[in-house]
Amino acid sequence: MARFNSNFLGRDMAVDLGTANTLVYVRGAGIVLSEPSVVAMGSNDKPLAVGSEAKRMIGRTPAHIRAIRPLKDGVISDFEVCETMLRYFIQQVHNSRFSKPRMIICVPSGVTGVEQRAVQDAAEFAGARKPAYIIEEPMAAAIGAGLPVQEPTGNMIVDIGGGTTEVAVISLGGVVTSQSVRVGGDELDDAVTQFIKKEYSLALGERTAEAVKMELGSAWRLEQEIMAEIRGRDLVTGLPKTIVTSTEEIRDAIEEPVSSIVDAVKVTLDKTPPELAADIMERGIMLAGGGALLKGLPERLAHETGMPIRIAPRPLEAVALGSGQALEEFEVLQGVLFSSARD
Ligand code: ADP
Ligand code: MG
Repeated sequence: MARFNSNFLGRDMAVDLGTANTLVYVRGAGIVLSEPSVVAMGSNDKPLAVGSEAKRMIGRTPAHIRAIRPLKDGVISDFEVCETMLRYFIQQVHNSRFSKPRMIICVPSGVTGVEQRAVQDAAEFAGARKPAYIIEEPMAAAIGAGLPVQEPTGNMIVDIGGGTTEVAVISLGGVVTSQSVRVGGDELDDAVTQFIKKEYSLALGERTAEAVKMELGSAWRLEQEIMAEIRGRDLVTGLPKTIVTSTEEIRDAIEEPVSSIVDAVKVTLDKTPPELAADIMERGIMLAGGGALLKGLPERLAHETGMPIRIAPRPLEAVALGSGQALEEFEVLQGVLFSSARD
């Protein structure tokens, strides 16, 4: 495992513990680490690799190595591995027994109070000053996307991650109404895999399915629809095979999860108090998270909600930037943080 040269000893840090990617923000330095939330475990339950190195191993491991994603569907599915990963990433940046930096950790909203407490413990064990703070994902995303969360105005944020989509309306530093659905980028990948299997009897690896989604997937008709080749394993002969599909086909394939995401936005709008809905009508809906990069999603949401849609300037980094801003402006933004677990 490559060691990160830590020049950030003792500096306060914020961690976006995402289902797909973990980012670390250091006070005064910005985002210094961004890695897939994946750990490769060897036979004796020792981590062999963490982050991109481990992600490259997904679908390529011999029997005695397992590539694990400790956060799935927006919950912590393997707590011990999650802890190992969190500690590893923190130690890449902060590696001193002598200083205890302040730490803010952003966790998916689906994480329970008990798990939250355990994440805080892991952070404190890795060197965080007590208490380690927790920030809710939609709040962090909204701040990172530049929304004026402290003002008495309705701000709608949609954060589409790997495992979940979180939709929230924020005003005066608090979440007024929110929805969290367990549909995100992973579901889109699965839908691609299912479709290619059914239609072409072709088995795709997880990483290929994700690449197909990014290249060919869309939520609205494209200006230029294209055909493309996909490589996989023929389920009948067991041999490698190449098929030709189109952007239209892949759009159809992912329609179900895409419409679940759209529905989550509509349901939240439906529950939004009228004054705030009027603000959103005027200011628009902000998209963040990697899923915001799905082609045609803004057009689709604009069509179905009638609201203006905007994408955060750096959608994949919005949560880390927002958590980081809460560090930088700790006195001002303290109100949006939690220091003890809730249920
Ligand atoms: P998390 O917060 O859960 O870690 P991220 O916000 O990092 O998730 O987003 C990761 C998800 O975004 C993955 O499912 C990934 O496939 C998806 N994603 C990243 N880039 C694109 C893209 N260009 N088009 C569609 N999906 C994308
Ligand atoms: Mg996220």
